[in-house]
This record gives sequence, structure tokens and C-alpha cells, in this order.
Amino acid sequence: QETIDKIAAGEVVERPASVAKELIENSIDAGATAISVEIKGGGIEYLRITDNGSGIDKDQIQIAFLRHSTSKISSAVDLDNVRSLGFRGEALSSISAVSKVELITKTKDSLLGASYIIEGAKEISLTDIGAPDGTTFIVRQLFYNTPARKKFLKSGSTEGSYVFDVVEHLALSHPEISFKFLLNGKEKLMTSGNGSLSDTIYQIYGRQIASNVLDIDYSDDKVSINGFIGQSIIARGNRAFEHFFVNQRYIKSNNLSRACEEGYYGFLMGHQYPFFVINIAFTDSAVDVNVHPTKQEVRFENESQICELLTKIVNQRLRKRED
Ligand code: ADP
Ligand code: MG
Repeated sequence: QETIDKIAAGEVVERPASVAKELIENSIDAGATAISVEIKGGGIEYLRITDNGSGIDKDQIQIAFLRHSTSKISSAVDLDNVRSLGFRGEALSSISAVSKVELITKTKDSLLGASYIIEGAKEISLTDIGAPDGTTFIVRQLFYNTPARKKFLKSGSTEGSYVFDVVEHLALSHPEISFKFLLNGKEKLMTSGNGSLSDTIYQIYGRQIASNVLDIDYSDDKVSINGFIGQSIIARGNRAFEHFFVNQRYIKSNNLSRACEEGYYGFLMGHQYPFFVINIAFTDSAVDVNVHPTKQEVRFENESQICELLTKIVNQRLRKRED
């Protein structure tokens, strides 16, 4: 079992950012309205996620760390109706196979919380402990027992910036959740969770970007496209401020990016880059969001149509402002 978990971990757990993504998505699935993320040493040495979600019953903790023991699918039929972000039931088993995990959790129906310690898939302890409602995961020394994999990690600061990206993207796709990110003890991000995307953009990127955005809001019978477009003068690489979410999942797509950039044609100065947060939601199942659960790719049946539409929407909105 230990070996299987270690191998499986390679699928889900590539780096601290993937640990953060899996744990934050679990917090979202648990109904959290506030999620705080803290890392030290790029998240390799220390990564903490605290949420105010449902918590885990003490007698369910060990089960949650078993492979494919997700609480989110009760039968094969359910597979068709999976709405939650995580449903493969292998994140906790994979993470705990290659790190030292400390879990503190409490449901609101229980008087006491529980503390669970598991290192390299070996259970160390399960004890009662006083705790607030919700769940904290602390993941220490990622890949301490798989040195070959540890070698593939980049520097702490690079790995830390990948974790930051994950938090940023999840904060943008969930304006209804308050996110906080601490890097080596310094607060790097804080959103209010008041549900407003434009407030969230302001809280993450500041006034300079937020005061210049234009809203877009389009829908037909197949797709809705909404969000904000603007520009950035901060040189952070061409596409670093381009954010696409398909059915609330952050994705990367050269084709979509190119389509949007085309819409900006003539509207950017030489030193400006596009800034946008664009949510695309399909009303039918033309989009396959599960091509690969840990990758940021999606497949469209009608991608070229969506691209044309995007170019048009972006361009029309920029023109409208000019009037
Ligand atoms: P999955 O998310 O695919 O179900 P995971 O291995 O990520 O599998 O999690 C296993 C189970 O542990 C979840 O189904 C859930 O019941 C429980 N769990 C994990 N994280 C949390 C959390 N932050 N709050 C409440 N329950 C959690
Ligand atoms: Mg999960």
C-alpha cells in the first residue's frame, strides 16, 4: 500500500503548488468561507492550509487518508454528477505518502477536535484536542522520503511563487471566499470574500489595475462570458495577468489568450500588457473539463467559435469605452 501510494503521489503531487491546490479545493468542497494559506521555504519545508469548513469527524479521519476513499462519490452513478472539485479520493493519501502531515480538525457537532499525525503514510497518532470549527492541514518536508522527486523541485522562491499563483487563481474564481496568503510570515494576499469580483481584483492587484477595468457580460443559449478586462503596466511577462476560468476552473489556453489579445488590437500602448479575468461557463457539455484533473487544460468542441466570440466581445467593450 505504501508503495502504491508513493507511486500514485506522483500523479497528484508534483510540487508544493499541487499540494496547495488539492488542499484548498478540499476546503472549498467543505464549504469554507475563509481559507488561509501559509508557506515557509517555498512550501517544501512548511505548508499550512486553515479553513472554517465542515471539519472531519474523528472516526472519519483515517478513512479520508485511504486511497480512493473519497466521501464524494457513493456509487458509480454519482460519477456523472460530480460537482465538487475533488472526487478522485487520492489527494490526502498521496500527500501523506511523501511528507509529514499534521491535521487538526473539528466539526461543529463535536465538543472536541482531533489531531492526526501521519508521516510517510505511517500513522503516528490520533488524539483529542481543543480546536476551532474547521480544518488545518500542515504539510512539512515534502518529498523527504523520495529524494529523486525532490530533485525536480525548483528553488524555494520559485516554488513559493507557484503556490502564490494557485492561491491567486482560486481567490479570483471564488470571490465569495475570503483568502489569505502568508509567505515567510509576510501577508501577500488578502481578499474579503464579499462575493464581488471587482473588489477581489482590487484587493489582489491594487488600485492601478482595478480602477481601469471594464466589465464584460455576455450570454447566449450555449455560453456565458463575464468578468473584467483592462491593462497592466507592470512588466510581469506577457500573459501573467491573463486569467481564464472555465466553469470556475483556472485554465491556460494559447488559443483563448490569442483571441483576447486580438480584441485588444490598437488599444494597448507599447509598455502595456492585457489584464483580464474572464469566466467562461458552458450551459451544455461542449466542454470537457476533466481531460486531466491536475493539468490546466480543457477541450472545447467549438473552440474556434468561442475564440471569435471572445475577440469580438473584448473589442466591442474597448470601443464602447472610447465613445
Ligand atoms: P477527494 O477530495 O477526492 O474526496 P481527498 O483525498 O482530497 O479526496 O480527501 C478525502 C476526504 O477527506 C474528502 O472526501 C473529505 O471528506 C475529507 N476532507 C479533506 N479535506 C477536508 C477539509 N478541509 N474539510 C473537510 N473534509 C475534508
Ligand atoms: Mg480532494
